[in-house]
Formats: sequence, structure tokens, C-alpha cells
Amino acid sequence: MKKRAVFLDRDGTLNKDVGYPNSFAAIEVYPYSFDAIRKINRSGLLTVVVTNQSGIGRGLIEEKNLQDIHQQMRNLFLRNNARLDGIYYCPHYIASMDPQYRKDCSCRKPNPGMAIKAAEELNISLKNSYMVGDKIEDIQFGLNIEATPILLLTGHGYKALRNLSEEGIQPAFVAQDLLEAADWILENDKKLSSSE
Ligand SMILES: [Mg+2]
Ligand SMILES: [Zn+2]
Repeated sequence: MKKRAVFLDRDGTLNKDVGYPNSFAAIEVYPYSFDAIRKINRSGLLTVVVTNQSGIGRGLIEEKNLQDIHQQMRNLFLRNNARLDGIYYCPHYIASMDPQYRKDCSCRKPNPGMAIKAAEELNISLKNSYMVGDKIEDIQFGLNIEATPILLLTGHGYKALRNLSEEGIQPAFVAQDLLEAADWILENDKKLSSSE
């Protein structure tokens, strides 16, 4: 049977959005993120981070530094009894000086590439999954993969909220932060299973 996942944006969702952090020391995980991820872990849903990291294509951070940041983030969550099941990133930038990253790619959110890859590698049913993020492109990504999209008001969330109607798109829920989103997901899941 296919698994279901909560896809998670990184910056402004799990940790403060500080632009293009180039070391783990620059990552400030929101204190409630551990609790939120732990709750999702217990529910049986996978936690899969999907993050646009054009800082690589822009030459602001090296790919191996990004991988190191992600390994250290996973370890930090594990030390707090919370597990990130997958982390996918898009390193591309359409105007990159480096040809290996210069690409109008299918993995930059809102394009669905990262979710499609995760679905293959982790055996996920996308339409029965969730997407949580703080930008319009996160909500559009959720809609593109036919998952249930949730907008957070952390990070760039208020700006996204103001622009939603202009873009003509609607999340299933607007949450104050990741913890409220996790609680909503678990409640929503309970309703789904009791209505079956
Ligand atoms: Mg974000
Ligand atoms: Zn890409």
C-alpha cells in the first residue's frame, strides 16, 4: 500500500527564513518544529522536506555545504525525537553562471519534480498527501501535485495571504505556524478515516 506524506517547505516553515544560509550555524529552527514533526511521525505520515535552493545556482552556497546543513538538521531533529524522512532540494537557477545549475527545471517549486521523485523513492500517494509552506509557490506546488495545501503565517506567509486571491488560488487551511498545521492535519485525517 502506498504511503502518505506531509511535504514541508524548509525556510519560513521549519526554520526562520534568513535568505541564503550557507552554514548550519545560520539555521534557526523554530522551537515548536520538533513537536510538530514528532506528532506527524506518530501519525504514520511521512515528513518530506522540499526546498528551492537557488543559492547554489547563484553561487552563494556550495552544494556540499547544503547537504551538510541538511544532514545536521536531520540529526538535530533526531536528537529531539523527531524524524525527517526525506529532504529534496532544487539547486537550479535559470541565470546561473555555472552550466550544471543553469536550467529552467521541473524541480523548482511550484513545478512538481521534487514530489514526483519522492513519490517514486518513498512510495507515496501524492493526492492523499499534504503540503505545508509559507509562499504562494508552496500552495501552487501542493495544488499541482493534487495534495492538500496548507499556508503558514510564519516566514513570508502574510504576504502570500494577501496575494492569494490575486493569484486565484486557495489553500485548504491557513495556520499560524507549523504546529497548528500539524494539529489540523491530524484532525483532518481522523475525520477522513471515520467517514470511510
Ligand atoms: Mg519558505
Ligand atoms: Zn531544479
